[in-house]
Amino acid sequence: MRGVLAVVPSATLLGLDGRFIRVEVDVAPGLPGFTIVGLADTALQEARERVRGAIRNAGFTFPPRRITINLAPADLRKGGASLDLAMALGILLGSEQVRAGSLPVAFLGELSLGGDVRRVPGVVPMVAALTAGIARVVVGTAVVEEARLAGGPAIVGVGTLAEAAEAVRGRRPRRNPVAMPRVTMGEGEVAAGPAIALAEAAVPDLAEVRGQHGARRALEIALAGGHGLLLTGPPGVGKTLLARTIPGLLPPLDDRSALAATIIASAAGEGPIRELRRRAPFRAPHHTISYAAMVGGGPNLTPGEITRADQGVLFLDELAEFDRDVLESLRQPLEEGRVVIARAGRVTTFPARFQLIAAMNPCPCGYAGSLPESTCRCNAPAIERYARRVSGPLRDRIDLWVPMPRVSSASLVAVGEPEGSVEVAARIAVARAVALARPAGVLNARLRGRALRHACRLSGAAAHRLIGLAEAEAASGRGTERLLRVARTIADLGDRDAVETEDLDEAAWFRSAEARSAGALAS
Ligand SMILES: [Zn+2]
Repeated sequence: MRGVLAVVPSATLLGLDGRFIRVEVDVAPGLPGFTIVGLADTALQEARERVRGAIRNAGFTFPPRRITINLAPADLRKGGASLDLAMALGILLGSEQVRAGSLPVAFLGELSLGGDVRRVPGVVPMVAALTAGIARVVVGTAVVEEARLAGGPAIVGVGTLAEAAEAVRGRRPRRNPVAMPRVTMGEGEVAAGPAIALAEAAVPDLAEVRGQHGARRALEIALAGGHGLLLTGPPGVGKTLLARTIPGLLPPLDDRSALAATIIASAAGEGPIRELRRRAPFRAPHHTISYAAMVGGGPNLTPGEITRADQGVLFLDELAEFDRDVLESLRQPLEEGRVVIARAGRVTTFPARFQLIAAMNPCPCGYAGSLPESTCRCNAPAIERYARRVSGPLRDRIDLWVPMPRVSSASLVAVGEPEGSVEVAARIAVARAVALARPAGVLNARLRGRALRHACRLSGAAAHRLIGLAEAEAASGRGTERLLRVARTIADLGDRDAVETEDLDEAAWFRSAEARSAGALAS
């Protein structure tokens, strides 16, 4: 009796890329055993138990033979559970419990011990890697729509290993008309990374933000120009509410950007993904987030929050509470729009063109500078230490600093309805289009040196004012550039071709909160 070799196409995820994997299963006579070779990581070794259990519980026999699975190409490190289904089918084919049809069919999915097919992260890039010579890709029912976004081969959804075995013959799986009662032991769907309540919650309208004209204006400028923004103020003044309006203020992504955002969301295991992500990302990780979760990494090079915020906004509430290392990790990506991750001798670059918007209290208790003064019990050194948690280099990347004072109840009921998100979003979209139409083709926050000077034609009076402001602040060249970039955006919002004195003055006002904060540091 000779052995049988079955070959099943599948794919694995590495970072944001899917990689084609040929799962070769050799079922040979000899002492029963089950070995996986071909640079499979330790997590993948656990697949043996899932595959064994799934085969038995799906009503097949786990063959008492010597089973060797080779994952090719052998020099590519494989992780994750996406190969489970292909390995199980390889064993069923190799032990002749299932016969293959004529069409090349690929399989992607994790198996439960009970034989259910579970969703895996990265279905979009993995299916995209399977286009060559594959007629059909079988995935879990939960990710059928996500898999179709990749284009290319036909997608078949299956709920169980038994249904997948039907699909291997090129047949559409027949559904059992009477659903079998299924006992589940806790653990349902795979959780999509750390719970991020803000991102999932409904997006409030800007009209819900009462008072806070300075902060509303600063947010409009920040989103129009892509500028870093820091909101400071005591708890309860609406910093978080204001930030939560951001998704409703950003223009939708074009086709190419939407596909890039969808691939990142897929690789990060976000779900469910049923259509291209048209809305610019808004990520709001909790301040307890780890370095790896912020930057990306882990065995399968999972994209971090800064990559998941690519082309959108990274909102850091309670900025001073984040780990120092986590905040420092933002510097390079903020400058370069990408992050380089080195792991196990492999270097990968992820996009990270996010805009930083942050909020923090003015002191540890949160009430410094607000009335009545007596509510804050923090002493000067404590306030200073608190402010210092946001380091100089990170401060340099924040163009707008906005204090949010307590709003009196009188001003909450005064005046009419504030402007809503639709009107403000329209102005932001126009200003961004104006900036992107310039020769540099970038948002104003990314203008540097010559490109910045070309973009900012100053009126005579404005040139004079810029010199005055620079001297008053003893601003470094860098400080002056930040001022100019924000003034350019303010002029764009006001439909002014040249940057005027008023634009510079307003930009300087949005720096004054930082100047006060820096003063606190110096004293
Ligand atoms: Zn305090």
